[in-house]
Amino acid sequence: MHPACAVPVAIIRPPVQIRQAGLLLSPAHTFSMEVIPGVPQPAWNNRKRWANLLDGTRCPLCREVGPPDLIAETTSAWVTAPKSAPLPGYVCVIAKRHVVEPFELPAPERAAFWEDAMTAARALSGLLRPVKMNYEVHGNTIPHLHLHLFPRFRGDPYEGGPIDPRRASFHRSPLQIRRIRDALADASPRGGRRSIARHRSRDAK
Ligand SMILES: [Zn+2]
Repeated sequence: MHPACAVPVAIIRPPVQIRQAGLLLSPAHTFSMEVIPGVPQPAWNNRKRWANLLDGTRCPLCREVGPPDLIAETTSAWVTAPKSAPLPGYVCVIAKRHVVEPFELPAPERAAFWEDAMTAARALSGLLRPVKMNYEVHGNTIPHLHLHLFPRFRGDPYEGGPIDPRRASFHRSPLQIRRIRDALADASPRGGRRSIARHRSRDAK
């Protein structure tokens, strides 16, 4: 989950170790998970703040030069991978242009955004070999177009229901994030680092 979408983390039971088949190439690559309580208020309940988020004047993604936790960039989108996420292989694909709904993107940018997003999804799938890739577009907290990519695995905390980032958080090591970043960089349909450029975030060194 993008940090701005996240809710405060609180540990209510000791962290447990969960391994995701396909991602973990050695026993050292395990993830600690915390259970997160709390129900955040919808952003739209504050009408003034919501209006400012919609028009971009208070959009946290537009106020920064680029989003935090950036691991890849295309002409249409940023891809982020925070250290903590609802699932081990989670990334977020964020449109560079501030639009609330996907259909608001001009047609060429809309096509480029989805093509880049699917390139990222394919790369994640190849790296992690999830049992299923999940795709979520909400924007209820930050109404700036972004697509959550959730590689699902057997035994994950959300089996039988929707992904709920309030329920669990997986902590990814710099090495694990770097492997995701490299997979995205290698996935360029033009065979190089030009479509999805390599980025070195502080956390991925
Ligand atoms: Zn924005």
